[in-house]
Amino acid sequence: SKVPAITLNNGVAMPQLGFGVWQVPDDEAFTAVGHALDAGYRSIDTAAVYGNEEGTGKALAASGVPRDELFVTTKLWNSDHGYDATLRAFDQSLTRLGLEYVDLYLIHWPLPSRDEYVATYRALEKIHQEGRARAIGVSNFQIHHLKRLLDETSVVPAVDQIELHPQLQQAEARAFHAGHRIATEAWSPLGQGRGLLEDATVARVAAKHGRTPAQVVLRWHLQLGNVVIPKSVTPSRIRENIDVFDFELDDADLAEFARLDAGRRLGPDPDTFD
Ligand code: NAD
Repeated sequence: SKVPAITLNNGVAMPQLGFGVWQVPDDEAFTAVGHALDAGYRSIDTAAVYGNEEGTGKALAASGVPRDELFVTTKLWNSDHGYDATLRAFDQSLTRLGLEYVDLYLIHWPLPSRDEYVATYRALEKIHQEGRARAIGVSNFQIHHLKRLLDETSVVPAVDQIELHPQLQQAEARAFHAGHRIATEAWSPLGQGRGLLEDATVARVAAKHGRTPAQVVLRWHLQLGNVVIPKSVTPSRIRENIDVFDFELDDADLAEFARLDAGRRLGPDPDTFD
């Protein structure tokens, strides 16, 4: 594949760029994931709550791509926190995907008000031990949630998937992740296509390289070491978003991007979202 892999803290290889399917209805996910696999994507990011694990799984099966060349991520939804509920929810996700294992299973949100993410994570550890998730991790965990897992559980999360884009650069989280060999995965890497792709700095860097705004934003992530999972249902954009491995941003470009950080969240605050 044209996409380089990063090595997770348990030795598993994960493509640094994958395809996200949030807000894609099940039947459209079948088509979109098919386009993505044709374009060379091998990593797919879904979740129980997206309602498209079935369409995603059917597209994976229909593609004929060998299972061991795919990297499939899904996530445990909020209503299923707790040890037993997590084990049940995982079984249901596997059934909907039509798979015998996933490559990465994530707790979607920490839900601090419920305070069950430690027990929930212990269920992920069991799933991992059984070989039904090659790697386990979390999503939307803040540093203090991660610290608690590190203190109270035994498998260091392989990944923390967080909102991250040039307007929310997450420097502290990234440094903490790096210090614990947790891979940083960026959700909404394109800022959901709202505003960021029209930003003047992004446009200037894009013009300089003869690339699109989406391409230079993805390049910024890759050069920072982030895993990215851009979403699109438009075949030309799906191809455009993976065509980012034959050019590089220089130090001046990266300095311009650094100035775009505005601490601006598009999604909920993980400390209060439940
Ligand atoms: P994104 O940042 O990937 O932006 C997607 C939008 O950008 C598209 O809908 C389209 O409008 C636009 N776009 C895409 N490619 C483009 C291009 N080449 N040119 C112009 N516009 C383009 O947004 P996202 O879907 O929110 O995030 C990506 C993935 O991250 C999701 O699909 C999902 O898998 C994951 N995610 C996870 C969480 C979480 O809580 N863990 C939350 C949100 C998203």
